[in-house]
Amino acid sequence: MPTRTLSLRNLTPIIDGIQTRFQTLAEKMISGENPSAQETNQLLLEIQSIKQTVHQRCQNRACQPADLSESAYRAFLWLVFLSKPQHFEQHLSFISHFLKEWKDRSHKVVLVKMYNSSFVFQCKPGRTHFTVTIGEGFLTADSQAMHTLVNCCLQSNRTNLAELRKLSRSSTYKQVMESIWQHTAQSTRSTNGDFYDLQQLFKKINTEYFQNGLSQPRLCWSSRRATRRLGYYHPDTDTITLSCFLDQRTIPSYVVEYVLYHEMLHKKLGLKEVNSYRLAHTTQFKQQEKKFKQYTDAEKFLKGLQRT
Ligand SMILES: [Zn+2]
Repeated sequence: MPTRTLSLRNLTPIIDGIQTRFQTLAEKMISGENPSAQETNQLLLEIQSIKQTVHQRCQNRACQPADLSESAYRAFLWLVFLSKPQHFEQHLSFISHFLKEWKDRSHKVVLVKMYNSSFVFQCKPGRTHFTVTIGEGFLTADSQAMHTLVNCCLQSNRTNLAELRKLSRSSTYKQVMESIWQHTAQSTRSTNGDFYDLQQLFKKINTEYFQNGLSQPRLCWSSRRATRRLGYYHPDTDTITLSCFLDQRTIPSYVVEYVLYHEMLHKKLGLKEVNSYRLAHTTQFKQQEKKFKQYTDAEKFLKGLQRT
Protein backbone atom coordinates (compact mmCIF):
# COMPACT_ATOMS: atom_id res chain seq x y z
CA MET A 1 0.00 0.00 0.00
CA PRO A 2 2.63 2.53 -1.02
CA THR A 3 0.22 5.45 -1.27
CA ARG A 4 -0.91 5.11 2.30
CA THR A 5 2.11 3.82 4.16
CA LEU A 6 5.06 6.08 4.69
CA SER A 7 8.12 3.84 4.69
CA LEU A 8 10.99 6.32 5.15
CA ARG A 9 13.45 3.79 3.76
CA ASN A 10 16.47 6.00 4.37
CA LEU A 11 15.99 5.56 8.13
CA THR A 12 17.86 2.23 8.14
CA PRO A 13 21.32 3.63 7.30
CA ILE A 14 20.70 6.49 9.73
CA ILE A 15 19.93 4.04 12.53
CA ASP A 16 23.03 1.99 11.64
CA GLY A 17 25.10 5.17 11.83
CA ILE A 18 23.79 5.91 15.31
CA GLN A 19 24.61 2.35 16.44
CA THR A 20 28.21 2.74 15.26
CA ARG A 21 28.50 6.06 17.10
CA PHE A 22 27.34 4.43 20.34
CA GLN A 23 29.93 1.73 19.91
CA THR A 24 32.71 4.26 19.30
CA LEU A 25 31.78 6.18 22.46
CA ALA A 26 31.52 2.96 24.48
CA GLU A 27 34.91 1.77 23.26
CA LYS A 28 36.45 5.03 24.40
CA MET A 29 34.83 4.53 27.79
CA ILE A 30 36.33 1.10 28.36
CA SER A 31 39.75 2.07 27.05
CA GLY A 32 39.94 4.65 29.83
CA GLU A 33 40.00 7.54 27.39
CA ASN A 34 36.57 8.83 28.35
CA PRO A 35 34.58 10.61 25.65
CA SER A 36 33.99 14.28 26.37
CA ALA A 37 30.58 15.49 27.50
CA GLN A 38 30.41 17.40 24.25
CA GLU A 39 30.88 14.23 22.19
CA THR A 40 28.11 12.32 23.95
CA ASN A 41 25.82 15.32 23.94
CA GLN A 42 26.33 15.70 20.21
CA LEU A 43 24.93 12.22 19.60
CA LEU A 44 21.97 12.84 21.88
CA LEU A 45 21.16 16.05 20.02
CA GLU A 46 21.37 14.27 16.69
CA ILE A 47 18.95 11.59 17.84
CA GLN A 48 16.54 14.26 19.03
CA SER A 49 16.81 16.08 15.75
CA ILE A 50 16.21 12.95 13.60
CA LYS A 51 13.17 12.12 15.71
CA GLN A 52 11.90 15.64 15.07
CA THR A 53 12.47 15.28 11.32
CA VAL A 54 10.47 12.05 11.17
CA HIS A 55 7.67 13.75 13.04
CA GLN A 56 7.76 16.67 10.65
CA ARG A 57 7.68 14.42 7.60
CA CYS A 58 4.60 12.68 8.96
CA GLN A 59 2.91 16.00 9.50
CA ASN A 60 3.74 17.08 5.97
CA ARG A 61 1.97 13.96 4.73
CA ALA A 62 -0.98 14.52 7.08
CA CYS A 63 -0.32 11.32 8.97
CA GLN A 64 0.80 10.21 12.40
CA PRO A 65 4.00 8.31 13.25
CA ALA A 66 1.80 5.32 14.17
CA ASP A 67 0.74 5.21 10.51
CA LEU A 68 4.30 4.51 9.41
CA SER A 69 5.32 1.12 8.10
CA GLU A 70 6.24 -1.40 10.79
CA SER A 71 9.99 -0.93 10.39
CA ALA A 72 9.87 2.86 10.23
CA TYR A 73 7.58 2.99 13.27
CA ARG A 74 9.98 0.73 15.18
CA ALA A 75 12.80 3.10 14.33
CA PHE A 76 10.77 6.15 15.28
CA LEU A 77 9.82 4.76 18.70
CA TRP A 78 13.45 3.83 19.33
CA LEU A 79 14.50 7.40 18.56
CA VAL A 80 11.79 8.77 20.85
CA PHE A 81 12.97 6.46 23.62
CA LEU A 82 16.65 7.35 23.26
CA SER A 83 15.87 11.05 23.04
CA LYS A 84 15.36 10.99 26.78
CA PRO A 85 18.74 11.63 28.41
CA GLN A 86 18.21 8.94 31.05
CA HIS A 87 17.58 6.22 28.46
CA PHE A 88 20.44 7.50 26.34
CA GLU A 89 22.81 7.15 29.31
CA GLN A 90 21.53 3.66 30.12
CA HIS A 91 21.90 2.61 26.50
CA LEU A 92 25.48 3.82 26.28
CA SER A 93 26.29 2.20 29.59
CA PHE A 94 24.83 -1.12 28.42
CA ILE A 95 26.96 -1.10 25.26
CA SER A 96 30.13 -0.36 27.20
CA HIS A 97 29.41 -3.12 29.75
CA PHE A 98 28.71 -5.57 26.98
CA LEU A 99 31.93 -4.68 25.17
CA LYS A 100 33.89 -4.99 28.38
CA GLU A 101 32.49 -8.45 29.10
CA TRP A 102 33.11 -9.43 25.48
CA LYS A 103 36.72 -8.27 25.46
CA ASP A 104 37.42 -10.15 28.66
CA ARG A 105 36.32 -13.35 27.02
CA SER A 106 36.99 -13.11 23.29
CA HIS A 107 39.57 -11.63 20.94
CA LYS A 108 37.13 -11.44 18.07
CA VAL A 109 35.97 -8.08 16.81
CA VAL A 110 32.35 -7.34 17.56
CA LEU A 111 29.86 -4.76 16.40
CA VAL A 112 27.10 -4.55 18.96
CA LYS A 113 23.75 -2.97 18.32
CA MET A 114 20.90 -2.60 20.72
CA TYR A 115 17.60 -1.96 19.07
CA ASN A 116 13.83 -1.97 19.27
CA SER A 117 13.90 -5.10 17.13
CA SER A 118 11.20 -7.71 16.65
CA PHE A 119 13.62 -10.38 17.92
CA VAL A 120 15.38 -10.38 21.29
CA PHE A 121 18.79 -11.51 20.14
CA GLN A 122 20.74 -12.16 16.96
CA CYS A 123 24.39 -12.97 16.51
CA LYS A 124 25.90 -13.12 13.05
CA PRO A 125 29.47 -14.37 12.87
CA GLY A 126 31.11 -12.81 9.84
CA ARG A 127 34.52 -13.17 8.17
CA THR A 128 36.00 -10.12 9.82
CA HIS A 129 33.72 -9.53 12.78
CA PHE A 130 30.65 -10.57 14.76
CA THR A 131 27.50 -8.51 14.48
CA VAL A 132 25.33 -8.80 17.56
CA THR A 133 21.87 -7.26 17.82
CA ILE A 134 20.29 -7.21 21.24
CA GLY A 135 16.69 -6.29 22.02
CA GLU A 136 16.40 -2.89 23.73
CA GLY A 137 14.44 -4.66 26.48
CA PHE A 138 17.79 -5.82 27.92
CA LEU A 139 18.64 -2.20 28.67
CA THR A 140 18.56 -2.67 32.43
CA ALA A 141 20.22 -6.11 32.36
CA ASP A 142 22.39 -6.97 35.34
CA SER A 143 25.85 -8.49 35.10
CA GLN A 144 24.45 -12.03 35.20
CA ALA A 145 22.23 -11.29 32.20
CA MET A 146 25.17 -9.63 30.44
CA HIS A 147 27.13 -12.82 31.00
CA THR A 148 24.31 -14.87 29.44
CA LEU A 149 24.19 -12.58 26.41
CA VAL A 150 27.89 -13.01 25.74
CA ASN A 151 27.55 -16.77 26.34
CA CYS A 152 24.92 -16.93 23.62
CA CYS A 153 27.23 -15.22 21.14
CA LEU A 154 30.20 -17.41 21.90
CA GLN A 155 28.28 -20.65 22.28
CA SER A 156 24.68 -20.70 21.15
CA ASN A 157 23.68 -24.00 22.71
CA ARG A 158 20.26 -24.90 24.07
CA THR A 159 21.01 -24.13 27.70
CA ASN A 160 22.29 -20.64 26.93
CA LEU A 161 19.43 -19.86 24.60
CA ALA A 162 16.85 -21.12 27.12
CA GLU A 163 18.39 -18.84 29.74
CA LEU A 164 18.21 -15.93 27.32
CA ARG A 165 14.59 -16.66 26.48
CA LYS A 166 13.77 -16.65 30.18
CA LEU A 167 15.39 -13.24 30.58
CA SER A 168 13.46 -11.86 27.63
CA ARG A 169 10.22 -12.79 29.39
CA SER A 170 11.17 -11.10 32.64
CA SER A 171 9.23 -8.15 33.99
CA THR A 172 12.22 -5.83 33.56
CA TYR A 173 12.41 -6.65 29.86
CA LYS A 174 8.68 -6.10 29.51
CA GLN A 175 8.82 -2.79 31.33
CA VAL A 176 11.39 -1.38 28.93
CA MET A 177 9.45 -2.62 25.91
CA GLU A 178 6.25 -1.13 27.25
CA SER A 179 7.83 2.22 27.74
CA ILE A 180 9.08 2.13 24.15
CA TRP A 181 5.75 1.00 22.71
CA GLN A 182 3.52 3.59 24.23
CA HIS A 183 0.39 4.03 22.30
CA THR A 184 0.29 6.96 20.02
CA ALA A 185 -2.70 8.01 17.99
CA GLN A 186 -3.20 6.57 14.55
CA SER A 187 -4.95 8.46 11.79
CA THR A 188 -7.61 6.90 9.60
CA ARG A 189 -5.11 7.15 6.76
CA SER A 190 -3.50 3.80 7.55
CA THR A 191 -6.53 1.89 8.87
CA ASN A 192 -8.90 2.85 6.08
CA GLY A 193 -8.39 0.56 3.09
CA ASP A 194 -9.97 0.84 -0.34
CA PHE A 195 -12.95 -1.28 0.75
CA TYR A 196 -12.64 -1.95 4.45
CA ASP A 197 -11.87 0.26 7.41
CA LEU A 198 -10.04 -1.72 10.08
CA GLN A 199 -10.90 0.77 12.79
CA GLN A 200 -14.62 0.45 12.11
CA LEU A 201 -14.45 -3.34 11.94
CA PHE A 202 -12.47 -3.48 15.16
CA LYS A 203 -15.12 -1.42 16.95
CA LYS A 204 -17.91 -3.57 15.58
CA ILE A 205 -16.31 -6.88 16.60
CA ASN A 206 -15.22 -5.52 19.96
CA THR A 207 -18.85 -4.63 20.70
CA GLU A 208 -20.33 -7.84 19.33
CA TYR A 209 -17.94 -10.38 20.81
CA PHE A 210 -15.82 -8.76 23.50
CA GLN A 211 -18.28 -6.44 25.33
CA ASN A 212 -15.94 -3.63 24.28
CA GLY A 213 -13.40 -5.12 26.66
CA LEU A 214 -10.45 -5.23 24.28
CA SER A 215 -8.14 -2.23 24.41
CA GLN A 216 -7.25 -0.53 21.17
CA PRO A 217 -4.33 -2.20 19.35
CA ARG A 218 -2.45 -0.65 16.46
CA LEU A 219 -4.23 -1.70 13.27
CA CYS A 220 -2.45 -2.02 9.95
CA TRP A 221 -2.93 -3.22 6.44
CA SER A 222 0.14 -5.11 5.30
CA SER A 223 2.24 -3.63 2.55
CA ARG A 224 2.60 -7.01 0.83
CA ARG A 225 -0.39 -8.85 -0.65
CA ALA A 226 0.10 -12.07 1.28
CA THR A 227 -2.43 -14.72 0.31
CA ARG A 228 -1.49 -17.41 2.83
CA ARG A 229 -0.91 -15.61 6.07
CA LEU A 230 -3.88 -13.27 6.07
CA GLY A 231 -3.41 -11.77 9.48
CA TYR A 232 -1.13 -11.75 12.47
CA TYR A 233 -0.90 -10.30 15.92
CA HIS A 234 2.37 -9.05 17.40
CA PRO A 235 2.05 -9.08 21.18
CA ASP A 236 5.22 -7.05 21.80
CA THR A 237 4.03 -4.22 19.62
CA ASP A 238 0.32 -4.80 20.19
CA THR A 239 -0.28 -4.64 16.46
CA ILE A 240 -2.83 -6.47 14.36
CA THR A 241 -1.88 -6.60 10.70
CA LEU A 242 -4.22 -7.84 8.00
CA SER A 243 -3.02 -8.70 4.53
CA CYS A 244 -4.10 -6.02 2.06
CA PHE A 245 -5.17 -8.95 -0.13
CA LEU A 246 -8.36 -8.96 1.97
CA ASP A 247 -9.09 -5.35 1.08
CA GLN A 248 -10.95 -6.02 -2.16
CA ARG A 249 -14.51 -6.17 -3.44
CA THR A 250 -14.48 -9.94 -4.01
CA ILE A 251 -13.80 -10.68 -0.34
CA PRO A 252 -17.05 -10.61 1.68
CA SER A 253 -16.98 -8.47 4.81
CA TYR A 254 -17.68 -11.43 7.11
CA VAL A 255 -14.40 -12.99 5.93
CA VAL A 256 -12.40 -9.87 6.75
CA GLU A 257 -14.21 -9.67 10.09
CA TYR A 258 -13.46 -13.32 10.80
CA VAL A 259 -9.73 -12.89 10.19
CA LEU A 260 -9.73 -9.79 12.39
CA TYR A 261 -11.75 -11.65 15.06
CA HIS A 262 -9.15 -14.43 15.02
CA GLU A 263 -6.33 -11.93 15.62
CA MET A 264 -8.32 -10.18 18.32
CA LEU A 265 -8.68 -13.53 20.08
CA HIS A 266 -4.89 -13.83 20.02
CA LYS A 267 -4.66 -10.46 21.70
CA LYS A 268 -7.21 -11.49 24.32
CA LEU A 269 -5.92 -14.99 25.07
CA GLY A 270 -2.19 -14.53 24.63
CA LEU A 271 0.13 -17.48 24.30
CA LYS A 272 0.07 -20.51 26.53
CA GLU A 273 3.44 -21.86 27.50
CA VAL A 274 3.92 -25.63 27.57
CA ASN A 275 7.41 -27.03 28.15
CA SER A 276 8.86 -23.72 26.99
CA TYR A 277 6.92 -23.94 23.72
CA ARG A 278 4.39 -21.24 23.17
CA LEU A 279 1.01 -22.37 21.95
CA ALA A 280 -1.38 -20.02 20.24
CA HIS A 281 -4.23 -22.17 18.94
CA THR A 282 -5.23 -23.94 22.10
CA THR A 283 -8.48 -25.84 22.64
CA GLN A 284 -9.86 -22.79 24.41
CA PHE A 285 -8.87 -20.65 21.43
CA LYS A 286 -10.59 -22.95 18.97
CA GLN A 287 -13.76 -23.06 21.04
CA GLN A 288 -13.97 -19.29 21.15
CA GLU A 289 -13.17 -19.02 17.47
CA LYS A 290 -16.28 -21.06 16.69
CA LYS A 291 -18.43 -18.44 18.40
CA PHE A 292 -18.04 -16.23 15.34
CA LYS A 293 -21.51 -16.08 13.79
CA GLN A 294 -20.54 -16.98 10.21
CA TYR A 295 -17.77 -19.32 11.32
CA THR A 296 -18.62 -22.16 8.89
CA ASP A 297 -19.06 -19.87 5.89
CA ALA A 298 -15.90 -17.93 6.63
CA GLU A 299 -13.82 -21.09 7.07
CA LYS A 300 -15.23 -22.45 3.82
CA PHE A 301 -14.41 -19.26 1.96
CA LEU A 302 -10.85 -19.22 3.29
CA LYS A 303 -10.29 -22.87 2.39
CA GLY A 304 -11.50 -22.06 -1.14
CA LEU A 305 -8.86 -19.31 -1.34
CA GLN A 306 -6.07 -21.71 -0.41
CA ARG A 307 -7.07 -24.02 -3.23
CA THR A 308 -6.89 -21.41 -5.97
ZN1 LIG B 1 -3.72 -17.67 14.71
